[in-house]
Amino acid sequence: MSSTETPELLGHYIGGRERAGSGETLDVFNPATGQVEKKLACALDAELEEVIHAASLAFAAWRNTPPQKRAQILFRYKQLLEANIDEICQAITAEHGKVLDDARGELIRGIEVVEYACGISELLKGEHSKNAGPDIDSWSEFQALGIVAGITPFNFPAMVPMWMFPMAIACGNTFILKPSERDPSAALLLAKLFTEAGLPDGVFNVINGDKRVVELILDDTRIQAVSFVGSTPIAESIYQRASKTGKRVQALGGAKNHAVIMPDADLDNAVNALMGAAYGSCGERCMAISVAVCVGEETADKAVAQLASRVKDLKVGPGTDIENDMGPLISADALERINDYIEQGLDQGAELVVDGRNLQLAGNEGGYFIGGNLFDRVSETMSIHSDEIFGPILCVVRVQSLDQAMSIINRHEYGNGTCIFTRDGAAARYFSDHIQVGMVGVNVALPVPVASHSFGGWKRSLFGDLSIYGPDSIRFYTRRKTMTQKWPAQGDSEGARFSFPSS
Ligand code: NAD
Repeated sequence: MSSTETPELLGHYIGGRERAGSGETLDVFNPATGQVEKKLACALDAELEEVIHAASLAFAAWRNTPPQKRAQILFRYKQLLEANIDEICQAITAEHGKVLDDARGELIRGIEVVEYACGISELLKGEHSKNAGPDIDSWSEFQALGIVAGITPFNFPAMVPMWMFPMAIACGNTFILKPSERDPSAALLLAKLFTEAGLPDGVFNVINGDKRVVELILDDTRIQAVSFVGSTPIAESIYQRASKTGKRVQALGGAKNHAVIMPDADLDNAVNALMGAAYGSCGERCMAISVAVCVGEETADKAVAQLASRVKDLKVGPGTDIENDMGPLISADALERINDYIEQGLDQGAELVVDGRNLQLAGNEGGYFIGGNLFDRVSETMSIHSDEIFGPILCVVRVQSLDQAMSIINRHEYGNGTCIFTRDGAAARYFSDHIQVGMVGVNVALPVPVASHSFGGWKRSLFGDLSIYGPDSIRFYTRRKTMTQKWPAQGDSEGARFSFPSS
């Protein structure tokens, strides 16, 4: 966009159509240039009212739509998403900054959730017991909740919303999505395509804005459940505030993911995997590996040497150039925060083996770029180890045993993902069994569960009882109802019984 053009104004998606916003606006930047490319209107109270009205009107018919009819719409949606993959990925890269191939990866993982949701007829089948008592049959069914909402972070503008709404909608709910204000365009495109696939108006809505809009959603008693993904302090406050109004809540928070490298690991394989897991998407992934825990000095020396040369070779630049490994960070604030953490690491005594700061890219001087950074000799108490940094910094911690590595991981406040690189099956099994983390990889650095399993961390990485997508999503987005039914034969009356009914 040239400096004389007026930025496009983004609004909302309500009742099956785009709706211009009238509230105050926020800037949406292109992180590769630092330019404001779009403006985003924050929803006013009246607009939230409108969206709740649309979702509420749509609910009665949608809940009664047979699951296989819902699945037919989901099938068409999957096809439309695939046909429009390039446009959605361009929108992601323009606002998030990640390289196009990475945007494609996240969208495909989101489409996999749509595919899983296509099996809703099977997934929603209830439970039945004939002759639960004399002449008594009993069954449980799973009923839609009503209007449910999703609040999502900037780092996966398509995939994280798709962790939520396809399953919620397949279960018969209507959905209100509040995407990140930093990269909202992908969500608006996803909504438009769902309407094109035949989704009735009002079943899927997008309302834009920041904290204020989130608070309106949390406090509205007509909304039955909230799925949240974002940073831990916000996740915790969302969990508490939404629970107070009686909502069902799942709030997924931040992370600090460790990879253990054992002395017997295939080091080439481990280093390859760590490069993608630590620096892919500029480290802005909740499953990013940000700590490599090397068991033994020799393992650490070799790993650091290999990593250092690979980190120096990372190609950093605009995400639209397919040659690049890493795009920019999301914002100027993020760049400042990450530079600050590098200073803290140095002050606290860690050894900065590769320094990616002060990266200047000709033609993209205003972009939020930073190169890859590698710290060695990091200790457990340093802030670069204890805090989630959410940037391209990999910390190497040196330990002498697997137990020592596991203690460090188990003491950490987060418990999202972890992995071990080893050739020793017994060590891998011991690690998987005893590590206090929700998603574990063995020779897999990013153990993000496939759509038919659920995604969720432990400890302060998830507030709530149920993980997101997969089988847990059926439980989260429905309410169990259990029926007990008896049809006594004519004249077969038992008379009054005052003891508690039992078989
Ligand atoms: P964030 O917590 O700043 O924002 C997430 C959402 O909450 C956004 O929609 C935002 O508008 C809203 N929000 C922000 N501040 C708020 C407030 N004070 N009150 C109410 N709502 C508020 O997160 P982010 O920076 O967009 O995303 C990065 C974070 O998300 C990282 O911590 C990352 O680990 C986490 N994340 C976690 C997972 C997971 O599955 N556990 C997945 C992706 C991202």
